Parts: sequence; structure tokens; C-alpha cells
Amino acid sequence: MASELETDVQAIDQSLLECSAEETAGKWLQASDLAREVYQHLAHYVPKIYCRGPNPLPQKEDMLAQHVLLGPMEWYLCGEDPAFGFPKLEQANKPSHLCGRVFKVGEPTYSCRDCAVDPTCVLCMECFLGSIHRDHRYRMTTSGGGGFCDCGDTEAWKEGPYCQKHELNTSEIEEEEDPLVHLSEDVIARTYNIFAIMFRYAVEILTWEKESELPADLEMGEKSDTYYCMLFNDEVHTYEQVIYTLQKAVNCTQKEAIGFATTVDRDGRRSVRYGDFQYCDQAKSVIVRSTSRQTKPLKVQVMHSSIVAHQNFGLKLLSWLGSIIGYSDGLRRILCQVGLQEGPDGENSSLVDKLMLNDSKLWKGARSVYHQLFMSSLLMDLKYKKLFAVRFAKNYERLQSDYVTDDHDREFSIADLSVQIFTVPSLARMLITEENLMTIIIKTFMDHLRHRDAQGRFQFERYTALQAFKFRRVQSLILDLKYVLISKPTEWSDELRQKFLQGFDAFLELLKCMQGMDPITRQVGQHIEMEPEWEAAFTLQMKLTHVISMMQDWCALDEKVLIEAYKKCLAVLMQCHGGFTDGEQPITLSICGHSVETIRYCVSQEKVSIHLPVSRLLAGLHVLLSKSEVAYKFPELLPLSELSPPMLIEHPLRCLVLCAQVHAGMWRRNGFSLVNQIYYYHNVKCRREMFDKDIMMLQTGASMMDPNHFLMIVLSRFELYQIFSTPDYGKRFSSEITHKDVVQQNNTLIEEMLYLIIMLVGERFSPGIGQVNATDEIKREIIHQLSIKPMAHSELVKSLPEDENKETGMESVIEAVAHFKKPGLTGRGMYEVKPECAKEFNLYFYHYSRAEQSKAEEAQRKLKRQNKEDTALPPPVLPPFCPLFASLVNILQSDVMLCIMGTILQWAVEHNGYSWSESMLQRVLHLIGMALQEEKQHLENVMEEHVVTFTFSQKISKPGEAPDNSPSILAMLETLQNSPYLEVHKDMIRWILKTFNAIKKIRENSSTSPVAETEGTILEESSRDKDKAERKRKAEIARLRREKIMAQMSEMQRHFIDENKELFQQTLELDASTSVVLDNSPMASDMKLTALGPSQTQVPEQRQFATCILCQEEQEVNGESRAMVLAAFVQRSTVLSKDRSKFIQDPDKYDPLFMHPDLSCGTHTGSCGHIMHAHCWQRYFDSVQAKEQRRQQRLRLHTSYDVENGEFLCPLCECLSNTVIPLLLPPRNIFNRRLNFSDQPNLTQWIRIISQQIQALQFLRKEESTSNTASSKNPENMDQLQLPEGFRPDFHPKNPYSESIKEMLTTFGTAVYKVGLKVHPNEDDPRVPMMCWGSCAYTIQSIERILSDEDKPLFGPLPCRLDDCLRSLTRFASAHWTVTSLSMVQGHFCKLFASLVPNDSLEDPPSILDIDMFHLLVSLVLAFPALQCQDFSGISLGTGDLHLFHLVTMAHIVQILLTSCTEENGMDQENSTTEEELAILALYKTLHQYTGRALKEMSSGWHLWRNLRAGIMPFLKCSALFFHYLNGVPSPPDIQVSGTSHFEHLCNYLSLPINLICLFQENSEIMNLLIESWCHNNEVKRYLEGERDAISYPRESNKLINLPEDYSSLINQASNFSCPKSGGDKSRAPTLCLVCGTLLCSQSYCCQTELEGEDVGACTAHTYSCGSGAGIFLRVRECQVLFLAGKTKGCFYSPPYLDDYGETDQGLRRGNPLHLCKERFKKIQKLWHQHSITEEIGHAQEANQTLVGIDWQHL
Ligand SMILES: [Zn+2]
Ligand SMILES: [Zn+2]
Ligand SMILES: [Zn+2]
Ligand SMILES: [Zn+2]
Ligand SMILES: [Zn+2]
Ligand SMILES: [Zn+2]
Ligand SMILES: [Zn+2]
Repeated sequence: MASELETDVQAIDQSLLECSAEETAGKWLQASDLAREVYQHLAHYVPKIYCRGPNPLPQKEDMLAQHVLLGPMEWYLCGEDPAFGFPKLEQANKPSHLCGRVFKVGEPTYSCRDCAVDPTCVLCMECFLGSIHRDHRYRMTTSGGGGFCDCGDTEAWKEGPYCQKHELNTSEIEEEEDPLVHLSEDVIARTYNIFAIMFRYAVEILTWEKESELPADLEMGEKSDTYYCMLFNDEVHTYEQVIYTLQKAVNCTQKEAIGFATTVDRDGRRSVRYGDFQYCDQAKSVIVRSTSRQTKPLKVQVMHSSIVAHQNFGLKLLSWLGSIIGYSDGLRRILCQVGLQEGPDGENSSLVDKLMLNDSKLWKGARSVYHQLFMSSLLMDLKYKKLFAVRFAKNYERLQSDYVTDDHDREFSIADLSVQIFTVPSLARMLITEENLMTIIIKTFMDHLRHRDAQGRFQFERYTALQAFKFRRVQSLILDLKYVLISKPTEWSDELRQKFLQGFDAFLELLKCMQGMDPITRQVGQHIEMEPEWEAAFTLQMKLTHVISMMQDWCALDEKVLIEAYKKCLAVLMQCHGGFTDGEQPITLSICGHSVETIRYCVSQEKVSIHLPVSRLLAGLHVLLSKSEVAYKFPELLPLSELSPPMLIEHPLRCLVLCAQVHAGMWRRNGFSLVNQIYYYHNVKCRREMFDKDIMMLQTGASMMDPNHFLMIVLSRFELYQIFSTPDYGKRFSSEITHKDVVQQNNTLIEEMLYLIIMLVGERFSPGIGQVNATDEIKREIIHQLSIKPMAHSELVKSLPEDENKETGMESVIEAVAHFKKPGLTGRGMYEVKPECAKEFNLYFYHYSRAEQSKAEEAQRKLKRQNKEDTALPPPVLPPFCPLFASLVNILQSDVMLCIMGTILQWAVEHNGYSWSESMLQRVLHLIGMALQEEKQHLENVMEEHVVTFTFSQKISKPGEAPDNSPSILAMLETLQNSPYLEVHKDMIRWILKTFNAIKKIRENSSTSPVAETEGTILEESSRDKDKAERKRKAEIARLRREKIMAQMSEMQRHFIDENKELFQQTLELDASTSVVLDNSPMASDMKLTALGPSQTQVPEQRQFATCILCQEEQEVNGESRAMVLAAFVQRSTVLSKDRSKFIQDPDKYDPLFMHPDLSCGTHTGSCGHIMHAHCWQRYFDSVQAKEQRRQQRLRLHTSYDVENGEFLCPLCECLSNTVIPLLLPPRNIFNRRLNFSDQPNLTQWIRIISQQIQALQFLRKEESTSNTASSKNPENMDQLQLPEGFRPDFHPKNPYSESIKEMLTTFGTAVYKVGLKVHPNEDDPRVPMMCWGSCAYTIQSIERILSDEDKPLFGPLPCRLDDCLRSLTRFASAHWTVTSLSMVQGHFCKLFASLVPNDSLEDPPSILDIDMFHLLVSLVLAFPALQCQDFSGISLGTGDLHLFHLVTMAHIVQILLTSCTEENGMDQENSTTEEELAILALYKTLHQYTGRALKEMSSGWHLWRNLRAGIMPFLKCSALFFHYLNGVPSPPDIQVSGTSHFEHLCNYLSLPINLICLFQENSEIMNLLIESWCHNNEVKRYLEGERDAISYPRESNKLINLPEDYSSLINQASNFSCPKSGGDKSRAPTLCLVCGTLLCSQSYCCQTELEGEDVGACTAHTYSCGSGAGIFLRVRECQVLFLAGKTKGCFYSPPYLDDYGETDQGLRRGNPLHLCKERFKKIQKLWHQHSITEEIGHAQEANQTLVGIDWQHL
């Protein structure tokens, strides 16, 4: 059946391929009814090409479509072969100067903060790099897809609109010529014909809604019964739901289901079943049924295959049109014309209209195809852009409504094109004037918010989920309004004024619906039952904030508009408050002989609302009037007489009182929603159009009122009128009312009211209120923020309000007020306020929160103390008010104010009788200070002959009037100055008195009568003396206290040492173990130290003690006692690997005996160096395990360590560990005692003896295996064997270690085996010892690399933990053979030995090119005792070590010489030829000879010697470390310092001749044989013949990849990266492996793979091959470093990219340019080299538990 179908398809193909494009086009050219002809062609062929089976075959379809369908059109259009026609068109074209590049998802975009007209103007990377903006302040973001490059758009850029590439054509754009002039009449006519037909066809078929019937002119005769079950995307169902449903409904695998779901999500629809109608309909009903339960069902249609075919071709056609118009601007214009031409049905019937109006009905894929076509056609043509904009505006209401009811994201809606149109200033302006766009947008918005209360206000309080969803979508309309307003007009036409004001009217209607919305009433008695919904109202307010500000900005640009807007706003406000005094009984207030009428209203009892946008807009406009001086120029035009100041202030004042009462705790029962609202009211995101404007409104009102009247109303609204209007009320009040809460409440309210007055008089930094400019305002904000604490750039930006362009204006002024301090290796760069700005500090700065205020106060006082100044924080000198607000200062000297001050001071003087607070007093003092500053300013700036009317100083000197005769304010201050309970405020009072005297002096100087001023001065001075004494006394007290604290601290310290004595001693003793040797032995510095061999320096026996960190017991370390262990962590490693493609494929078969020189697949052991008893550790580990099991049963929590894998945290330092290493003394000493070293064999003799022994062993081994079958020993065979002299293979030495140590030897050995090979533990596996030796060698090599890379000396001061770890590891590895089978280790030794000295035990030994010699050395030396222990001929272990070492060294030399590939050059060569050079040249010649002259000729011994020395150094260094730790011989002092290469010192220490070649000469007899055998290996031949590669020496250190300096090039690289699995799709989370540079598609279904039976993400999968479990990645979109270990562990790490302010930008939220910080990158590399990634993850997870829960394996 299947094959039949296939041939069928092929047959069709054949007929299709025979179809000729030229012929068809020719037929069309003759046709009288072209449209009919073309439609017939399509009707016939489209279903033959598209949709022939269940799965699409895009390549084949595309090929056939091009051949049969598009080809004829191209022929027709060109009138000739398109291969010639299109290039001709292209040549004739004058290309556009617009870039227009459409952004891919994740592509970097750039905006210039200096030149972009608004932040939506962006450049692509190419244009940006070629533009002037790369040197400006730019911002970088990653595109979410859609949108295009604005390069070349002169309206988008204030400067530099063209990049270099697009500038070329600018000379021509002056005259706007019609691009059609470049086309011939014929081409125009044909293009028009074919475009019109094709565009109509595409629109018709894409918007076709019938499921099984085609448009009549496409219907064919016979119809097959082939259908698709088409699944559509929605935003309701999750991936998982869809996948699950599909598996059930169409019976597919999970993988297929994932594929379907991915396509549905990407393209918006996907056929999930193909077949006859019934078959598809069945699937449909299953899907609908199983998804309709919880939500609305998934959308599924059963569609006839021919419809799907035509739709697919329709999409293809649109893309084709998009690419065809790329050839010529003329073609583009024709397409635009066709698209916008009105159709037969009149209004809204053009093809473009049709598409737009059907937008929400189309699936995602279709939408994005036609949106792209619009962008590349209509938006690229200057003339049609305008016409399109008009169509868009005309349809605006409908499009937005469609969008609001649709469920797709905005980026998939045509409505999203608004940003492309409205942000073009000329278009926006045109649409406002011609289409009344502002009004349309606002009205559309209002239409969607129909939910109102009785007064017609919005009602968000009880929003349903659906309403909330709709509300979220409607918000995008506000964004449109913002786009329209974002570029402000430079000139106004009457038309624009009129339409703007119409829009303003509509806007006021909107604000009116918000004025007073969501009112609240204080809850008394019971707590509220349900927290009211408040967020929607605030979201609206927040979204509108910038629009409100921009409305004001627009008004400010034109006086006529400003005046009109002011009038309109006032009128609306009066409507809102229409008759606000109605029904209220007016009451009269009076204090100090002043009286005023007001209404009776209590915030604490009646309704109050935070939302007052109309009042606030009016306040803003009023300040603009003041600023632009319109009010003075045309007062007659203003409705000033209509203003009723008490009405203006009423609602803002209520709102401020509400805040005060909330602070006083009076609204506790109203719950958190109110607290949150108050928070946002003051928050930097809202305050500009909320709190700030309320203060302005009060300033406006107060400036028009009698200050006494104003203050009385304020007192009344604060519900404090009684207290201050009744003499002695305070006294009575405190005695009568004992309720503490009420007292406290009133105190807070008084404090709040005083604070409000301070703000009203002191806040003059808004242009229009005070005589300042905008930079003064921002400077002041910054000074006050930095007065709290030094801040990083981003922190500071966050605390400042942003304008609609996301700018704070901070950069331009920051340098004037702050210093920048650069960051170190961690942390961020910080700004600190300049000291000279301290005088501008105002403790009662109105944007401080309570907490900030107290922090700032503390910081400023501390600073003053440090500078040895007094700690007074007097009010700063303020700029003068603008004339409209000038009268505000009179509040300070008004009678009511003086009364309030006097009353509070009185309370403070008689401090016992009243309830008052220090804060209250502090605020009064501040107010007095402000008044004095004001007066001083007035006096200093007074014009001649003018009288200063500000006479505060005189008023406060006057005592109160009869009858109570209270003392003057001044007198009270003098009294308070000496009161002991006001210590903190003394400096301030003194400052006030000083200022007072200064003012007095100025007044007297001007009025010439030097009256008794002395009194005050004396008073001041005497007090100063007294004060000095007081200070001295205090200083003394402070000193004593300090001393006492110090004593306490050292006591505590001693205590700590006592308690942890063992700990301290342990470190001391361990350190001593090496240094003592040096001290005791006379040879220490003079004598040659030798690390190995018969002449090894003998180290006096050392006793070593260690303390268990668990039981704190001290114990000697030796072989007989209980084992002590170090916590250790074993991990696989590829850090040194030279071939990352290699990894252990099948661990069960892997043979680790020989390490390849590429060092792939190593096993690293690390330790934190903490010592425990083995039994203590065991107990600890058991308890951790038990606890973990209990915990996992209870709650399925993860931990940072995996107990099941033997992991635990070091009990002392919490370092991740997975096993323990036993502590041992140098093990060789135990076996090396019995011998005299007199007569030892030389290398040749020794090799012979060993070979004989090996032979004997092999014979015995063979015997054993045969005798097993014969079941008895064959004595005859035994006789045949000639046992070498003194060799006793039946001898088994006694194990020198205690049971406990033996157990630990096995434990650690098994752990290395288990982790290194990832197999189940098996202590008897023959590979256990190999793994132990390998880990020892690998760890030493990795440490040698780190030291060399950092240029550190080999035996310099190594960190304690490394030293301990290497010592224990080496000694362990050398003792491990004692717990394994002797014959097994002997067998290993024989094989290892055979790699250098051929014997029968190893068939096909590896070539010396394929052995890492250091690994070989370690294994040989550590396996050797197993053989040597049976040798009683008198050869010492040391002799064996030495010969083994020499043998391996020589092999390594040959290895180096064979692989050294350095070019000979004559440079730098010294003249004289040394002995070494001659010797090495001779050796090289020998090699040359043995390799059959395949080795390259070399004539320079100098080069060879130099290469050898460089190549062998790492080996020598590793060997020195190895033997040092193995035998415990101290290192020669020369190697302990860095500097020269130490070659000679190393040779001495290792018992090597300086001229290494001497080794060969001394043993030439045997060596020549060996060299010959090495060189004759087949692999060596292949290498020399160039058939394979080999590692050359020295091996270079592995580094992390090179990262680019500029982060954006990484983003760009990542944006070009597409998911390797889902054919060209953009990856959502491109992630870069920093080890090998591979880009991965992380965190995505498409790239999940199965690893050990589990689904894992691309990163986790990659770590398995690249980092054998550990990985270091850079998540490019997030700018975040990711560490992964195993499948379950991971953490994020701070990235090595910083912005200019020394901050990282994790998540790329701020978009400042980022540059590579080399030091930070090195730090990451170091973590990697040190194998600390896993440890780092462990620490991060311990510190932050939320990291544990992250699903790392899916990254
Ligand atoms: Zn561009
Ligand atoms: Zn450009
Ligand atoms: Zn710029
Ligand atoms: Zn212990
Ligand atoms: Zn530790
Ligand atoms: Zn992928
Ligand atoms: Zn990698």
C-alpha cells in the first residue's frame, strides 16, 4: 500500500515537472481574462503540489511551487527569463536609504540615549556599528521579534540618522521622485495585473472560513475524501496539556506529540491527522472532549486537504511578494497601490483592510507572514506609509476591540503595528489633526472600561477574572497614547491646537472617571473582612503617569493651549466637586484672633480617596503657568477669580491627612491593601503625579490664602484644632486622657503636620515653584539619595523617577555632586556624595521614607562627628520662590505658626507635665531654623531702601501677651539649651541661637544702633565653655568604655582558643612536620637534598599528631592505631583533557591501566583538609544518611548533596565531600628498613633481574591456571623454572596496618573506582588500584598546571588543604596495594613494565606516543613494592624507584624528541656548542636511524636541547611533587621561591644528571635495544608518515574560550544561532559552553535528550561529554554564568561582564553597554582549574535554598 502511494506521488511529480513556466506565462500574456486563466492554473495545480500526505514535505513543495506556480508569474512579470529580468530591475533601482531590517527574536538592538527621538527608535547591529551613536550613550536590548531597524529614518534620530552603509544614497533623496519612473510601461502594467490577482487570491484564501468548500473559481470537478484534523494554538492550554491530549486523541508517541505541540505553538496550527472525514472528525471530538472540562476546549477544525493546500500556497505567495518587491522600489510601490486600492464594496474593502480586519481570526503563522509583508512594503514606502497610517487609524477602534477579545499576545496582533506608525512624529501629528487620533484612542479605551459606580467613576474593587484579563489587554491603548504624544510639536497650527484640546477634553473625561475612585472609609471595631482590590486602580494610575506628564509638557509648549487647558481642567474639577460644601454645616475656627470658616469634615470618619488625578493635573498646569509667566503676562485670560483656594486644597489635604493617620496607626483595621496604596502613593514610580502634585496643590492654595487661615484649616483636617486652639489644652489633655494609644496617635499627627508645613515651605525645587531649573531638581534628588549611603549606579537610577524616555537625567549632573569609586574583583562600583554638597542636605527631604530619613540622619551625624564638627543638621539655604508662590514664606511667621511653635516649646520646657515627643521638638527647631535662614537671606539680598517684611527674629523675641505671659520663643530655646534630657538637640539649638545673633547683627548694622547684643553672646559663650567641659567628660567616659570592650573581646578570643585548642594546634603541628626537618638536620640548606633512590636523603622519624574535628580528641598518626581520615571529594575531570570528544563509552569494559597523553577522562581528588577519626566520620555519615532518609520521606526536599551517592558535607567547613582518605606516614619507610645499600645493580642489570622475575611470575601464573584443571601441582614443571636468586614468589608480607586503616584504604580505593568509572562499587575489581594510581597522578598534574599557570613556585607556600590532600593521596596510593591481591598488582606491574621493556605479559603494547609518562611512572613506582616484597636478593626499593624513574624519563625524552615539531631557525643561537647539545644531537641521530629516517633531520642541537628542556619540565615538576610526598624528603629551598625555571635544582633533587642525555650514554647497551623497540612500533611509523597525530610537549594549559570584549557581539552570535534539532528555529535560551565554545539550545523541549534513562536539557547532556559531569556556561540572553554538576546540581554565578559603572546586568534588564572584565573571567577559570565548580555549587545551594529546587537537569 505504502509503496503504491509512493509511486503514485512520483507519477504526479513527473507530470508537474514537465510543466513549463515560460509556456504558461506565454499563455497568460495572450489571455483575455487573465484572472480566470490564473485561477484555473492554481485550481488545477495547487492541490497537486501541496498537502499530499499526513506530514508536510516543505522542501519538495517549495521546489514544485517555484517550478509550476511561481515560475510562470515571474516569467510573466519580467516578460523574459526572470534570471535576467530581476537583475535588470535591481540594477535600474535606486535602493532605499531605509535599512528596515526586520529583527529576529533575540537579535541585539541599539538605541541612542542622546539622539533617538524615543526609545522605540532602534538600530540593527550592523547599522549601529557603522553609525555615530556607537560613541554616544547607548542602550542595548534584545529584540522580542518583529519591529525593524530605523536606520535612515530622519524622523527617528535627532542626529546621525544614517549609518555609513545607508548614507551613500542620501544625496538623492532630496527630491522625492516616483520610483515608477525606473520601470518600463510594460513592466508596470504586467506587474500591476499579476500583483492584483495574486494578492487578491492570497487574501481571499487566507480569510476563507469554510472548512470543506473552496471559493467557486477554485473548485475542481471531482473531490477526494482527504481531510486534515487541524489543531490551533491558544494561550489558555499549556504545552503539557496539549501533549497529553494529543497522545490520547491521535494515538501518537510522546515525541510526535511534542513535535505537534511545538509547531502549533510556533506556527499557530498543525494538522495532527490526515485521512477521510470520519477519521479526522473522530480525533477532533476526542480532543474537544478531553480539553473542555476545565477551560474552553482547544480549537480544532476538520479541513478539506485542498483548502489547506491553497492556504499553504497563499502564505508562500505572500512571502514571494515580499521578496519580489525587494528587487525594485517600483514594484514595491505597485504592491502598495494594489493593497490599498478600494475594492468593489467601498469603504474598508481594500485588500489591506480585509487582512487587518480579519487579523484576530487568522492563525499565528499567517499573521506573522502578512505582518512581515506589511513591514517590508507599506512601511518602507514613504508615500504609502501615510496612506496606510490613515487606514490603520480609521480601523483603530475595530482592531483594538478585536485584539482585546483575542487571546494571542500583542506581538502577534496587527494592533502591535501602532508602535511603527504612531512613533513617527509627522504621522502622529497628521493623524491627530486629520483623524482626531488622540480622541479616538482615549474613547476606545474608555469604551472598554464600562464598569462604573453611581457617580460614573471606574470601579475596580470587585473585578472578575475576565474583566481583569480584558483590563490587562486594554492597557496597551495607553501605550499607544504615549507613542502619539512622545514627540512634542515644535510648531502649532490652529488645527493641531484644536484637535489637541479635543483630545485633552477626552483625557479629562478619563481622569474624571478616576477622580475619587475606590474611596475608603476608616474601619473601626472590626477588621475588614476582605482586602479590597486596589492594584487595578494603581496599575491604571501608573500606566497613565507618563501620559499625564506628557500632556502637561505639550501644554507648556504653547501659551494659548496652556490657558485653554487650564480653564478646561478647572471646569472639570469644579464639576467633580460640584457643591462640595452642600449640606455641610460651615463651622468657624479661630486662633490668636484670626478666624476662618470651613466645612465640618473628618478624614477618620468619612469617605476619602487617594485618586485625584484632576486636582493633580490642575496643580501641574498651575505650576506651568507660574513657570512660563503666563499668569503675569495675561492675567485677564485666566479664571483666577473663579479659583476658590479652600476648594483646591481640600482633597489633596484629605489625602495627605489620610497618610498621616495611617502612620499614626489609626487605619490598622483596613488591612494591607491600604498600606500598599500609601506605599505606591509615595513610590518613585507614582509620586510625580500623585504625592508631589498634592504638595504642589497645597502650595498653590496656601499661596493664595491668608497663612493663618490656611494653617487653621490644616489643623482642623488633622483633627488637631482643639489641641492648639485651647490654652492649656495639652495639660488637660495629658492628665484627662490616659489612653496611651490616643496620646501616641496625637503625637504622631502633630509630627506629621509639622512635617507637612516644612515641606510646603521648603520644597521649591520644581521649576515654577522655586526659581530653579530642572538640573537643580535632579541634583538635589541625587544628593539626598547618596546622603543615605553610597550607591551603585543601578540602585541610584532605581531611586530616581524616569521620564517617558526612561531617562532620569542623572548622567548629566552626577559628576557635579558625586565621586565614583571603582569596583574590585567582586562587588559593584559606587557613587559617594561630594563633601561640599553636605550643606545642601535637608533632613526633611520630602521623598525620604521614614526608614531612609533615619538612616540619612544617622549617616550625616556620623560624618559630622568624624569631621569633628557639631552634629546639628540645620535646614539648608533654599532658592527663592517664584513670584506666584512667594507668599508661602509667610506661613513661617504667621501668628498661628508662632502659636504652634510656642506651644510645643512650652511642652518641652515643662517636660514632665505634657505628652510630647522629641521628633515634634526637632521639627519645630527645624522650622525655626528655616525661618531664620529665610530672614537672613532676605536681609542679605535686600535692595536698598526696601523694607524687609520678614521679621521672624523680632517676633520670637517677644514674650507672649497677657494674660498668661508666656515667655518668648527665644527665651524658651535658651532654657532648653541646658536641659539635660535634650542632649541630641543641643547642637541644633546652639546653631539657632547663633544664627539669631547673626541676624540681629545684620539688622543692627543696617539700622546703626548697636544695642545690647552682648547678652546673647555672653550667654552663648558661657554655654560654650560649659559645653567644652561636658564634652571632655564624655570623651573620657567613652575611652573607658572602649577599653572595657577591648578587654572583653580579648577575653572572648582567649576563650575561643581554649575551646578550640586542638584545632589551632593541629594546624601548627602539621606545619611543623615539614619545617622541623629543616631545622634539625644540618644539611638543610647546604646539603643536596635527594628525593628518591639509594642516596635518598634520610628523614628523621617524625611523630605526627592530629585532632579529630568531631570528638576533639588528639591522636598520633601511625600504622598501628585507629585510622584518621580527611574528608575528600573525588570527581571525574576533563580539565586537562586535550580531546573532549573522548569519554568513557562503556565503563564496564574500559581499561584505565594506561593513561593516554591527551589526558581525557581523569579522576581528580580534592579535600578541604579536615581530619576526623574514621569511626567518628562513620558515625557522622550514618546519622546524615538516616536524617536524610527521614527528611525525604516527610517532604520531598532536595539537598545540596546526594546522600545516596555517598555525598556529605564536611562537618566543619560544609565543603562537599563524597569519601575520606586515610592519613598515613610515608609508607615506604616501613618496607625500606632492612637493607644495606652498598652493592646495588645498575640499570641494565636491574632490568635484567626484573625481567627474570617477571618471567618467573608469568610461568607460575600459567602453571596455576593449568593446574586448576589438573587439580594438583606438577612438580616437574616446577623444576623447569629457574627462580632468580633471592626471589621468593611464595612469600607474602605481613600487612603493617591496623584493621581500621585497612578498611579505610579499601573505602577510599573503592570510592575512586566507583566515581571515576561510574560503576557499582566492587572492591575486588582489578581496576581499583589502577584508578587509585591514576587519580594520584592526575591530581598532581592538575596542581602542577595551576602553579605553572600562575607562575608560582613548585614548593612555595601551598594552601594547607592542597598540601594535606596531596600528601595523603600519594601515601594512600602507595599503601593501597597492601589491601589487594598481591598477584593482581604484580600482574599490573608486569603489563606496565612491558610497555617500556617488552615481555610476554602484554600483547600489542601501546606505542610510547600513546602513554602519558607521568601516569606510567606513578603506576610503576606504586605497583613495584608488590614485586619487590618477594625479592630477597638485596635490591632496595629505592634502587627500583630510581631505575624506574630513569627509565620512564628516558622514554619521555624519546617521546618529546619524536613529537617535537619546532621549526629550526638560526635566531638566538649561541655560538659555542655545549656538551648537552652535542649529546642530544647524537641521540637524535640514533632516533633518526631507528625510525628508518622518517624523522625530520635536525642540525641544531641547541634547538633540540631547548625543546627538550621546555618539554620535560612539567614531568620533572610532577615527579618532584610525587616523590616529595611519597618519601617525605623536604624540598630544596631553591625551588620554594619563584623565579628561574629551576631545571638544575629539580634534576639534583630527582637524582638526575643535569645533562639528561647522560642517562642514555651510561646505559647505552640496553637503551639502544629499547629505543629500537619503541621506534619500531607501528603507531610511531604511522605518526612519522603523517597518518596520525600525537600530543607534543609541553602540553599547553587548557583555558576557557576567548570571550569578546563587547557583550553585544555575543548576543549577535547567539541570535544567529538556531536550534540544531527543529530546523532553523531560533533558540529561546542560547547557552554557550565556556569550556569548548559550543552554543546550545538550552531549556527547551526541542533539544532534550535521554541520558541514563532520563530526559535532560541540552546543557546537562553537553556536560556529560564535555566536562564529564561538570559544566560552565554563559546564558547569553540572560548574561548569567551557569555552573552545572551532575544532573541535579547547579547555580548561577556572576558574569564576567560589567557596565561602565562596574555592575553586572544579570537578565540584561538595564541595557547599558557591557564589557569583559578580564579579572573576573580569570577567577571563573581558576575555579575550573581548581576543580571547584561542584564545591562552588554546593556552597551556593547551602546559602540559598531556592537554588536547590530549580530543575537544573532541564537546562
Ligand atoms: Zn539596520
Ligand atoms: Zn544603516
Ligand atoms: Zn547618538
Ligand atoms: Zn574523633
Ligand atoms: Zn572541611
Ligand atoms: Zn532546540
Ligand atoms: Zn563544552
